Amino acid sequence: MIKAIRGMRDLLPPETSRWQWVEQVAREVFGLYGYREIRLPLLERTELFARSIGADTDIVGKEMYTFPDRKGDSLTLRPEATASVLRAVLENGLDKGAGVKKLYTLGPMFRYERPQKGRYRQFYQINCEAFGVDAPELDAEVILLLLDILTRLKLGEMRLLINSLGCPDCQVKFKAAMGLFLISREGLCEDCQRRRDTNPLRVLDCKSVHCKEILKDAPVIRDYLCPDCTAHFARVLAWLKRFGVAYEEQPKLVRGLDYYTRTAFEVVAAGLGAQDAVAGGGRYNGLSQALGGPLLPAIGFAIGEDRLLEVLPKDLGQENQFKVFLAALGEAARDRAFHLLQELRQRRVAAEMDLEGRSLKAQMTQADRSGATYAVIIGDRELEQGEALVRPMRAFSYKKGEGPKLTELPSGRIVENQERVALKDLTALLAARARE
Ligand code: AMP
Repeated sequence: MIKAIRGMRDLLPPETSRWQWVEQVAREVFGLYGYREIRLPLLERTELFARSIGADTDIVGKEMYTFPDRKGDSLTLRPEATASVLRAVLENGLDKGAGVKKLYTLGPMFRYERPQKGRYRQFYQINCEAFGVDAPELDAEVILLLLDILTRLKLGEMRLLINSLGCPDCQVKFKAAMGLFLISREGLCEDCQRRRDTNPLRVLDCKSVHCKEILKDAPVIRDYLCPDCTAHFARVLAWLKRFGVAYEEQPKLVRGLDYYTRTAFEVVAAGLGAQDAVAGGGRYNGLSQALGGPLLPAIGFAIGEDRLLEVLPKDLGQENQFKVFLAALGEAARDRAFHLLQELRQRRVAAEMDLEGRSLKAQMTQADRSGATYAVIIGDRELEQGEALVRPMRAFSYKKGEGPKLTELPSGRIVENQERVALKDLTALLAARARE
């Protein structure tokens, strides 16, 4: 048997209905904040990521799925969305005009990382990107938007970690200080020894316990911020405070990508173990120019959907759809039921039936398993009388000799036992109940 590729998993029902629900909530909240969707190719020229994410990053250095196409051009499966969004914005002139431009996108990303719980090689992100405005109010709004989505999804315990990475001027000074600090330290991992020379800021991103220990008394970027960056950060924090957002300043927080400037943030959730970041983002004012575009201030975030779903309550977003199961006995009844089935669907009522002529008991078991709200039973006798038995199912388990119980409909209405309903009125009645 051919199996799925390591680190790439199938998302199966009923779990997929939780995913749909998360995405639906995210779309709704994006709408409230004035964002519109953009859909992008999964493949881009390798150069796009090499130029934007940074050659010293783990992503570009080790984790990209890069291959030549049939013409020999180097292509890469996108490891993140921001570079692609910005490429599309510049290519299609979406940056033109005054004011903020707001875009969101959902979909899979690909990174050749070591798979573990909460870390996959194909994983899914919900991405938010806002362009054209450098005001700290936008930083605050983007963070409020992120927290709004996570709160509406009922994510329990979460912490917002925040830092400022300054502008390129601040970063030059900080990197020099960090470089000096690192020269005198022994025992950095191989990667960090290299980063010390190429980009000392990246050392802060190292996962090695030993490097983390060395960095305990390393300089922090906050001490190297210019007055503008200091004021910007103070204003972002002031807004968060005014909106009652609890945040934790993390002077060593950097992001895994090189293009961040000023505000950088992460949301970590309880119950995720080592891979506890469910979302991360920040400002990337310099990215547009790095890609050959105009100066275009920008800020965004990515929610890791896989991890988010790991920690969200398991029963959320589960289908609670009004459904009907038609159980028919005998050929004539089955023919009639098949018509009713399509009629129900035309009336926007979810409906199913058995197509194999199985026993009533088997059909009722199937009705139960399907999560039907009602079973409609049509036998020869019912057919003759032009009626059907409508039996509430939700609290019903089919056992011989046991009568149906009281049942609560999704609307909260309690219905009693089964009813006899004229076949001619059946679909209208069920459609009305479905709308309750
Ligand atoms: P990043 O693009 O690295 O800033 O990541 C943003 C979010 O995507 C992280 O906070 C994670 O929740 C999620 N994420 C990143 N890499 C992976 C991965 N390999 N598997 C699952 N989720 C990931």
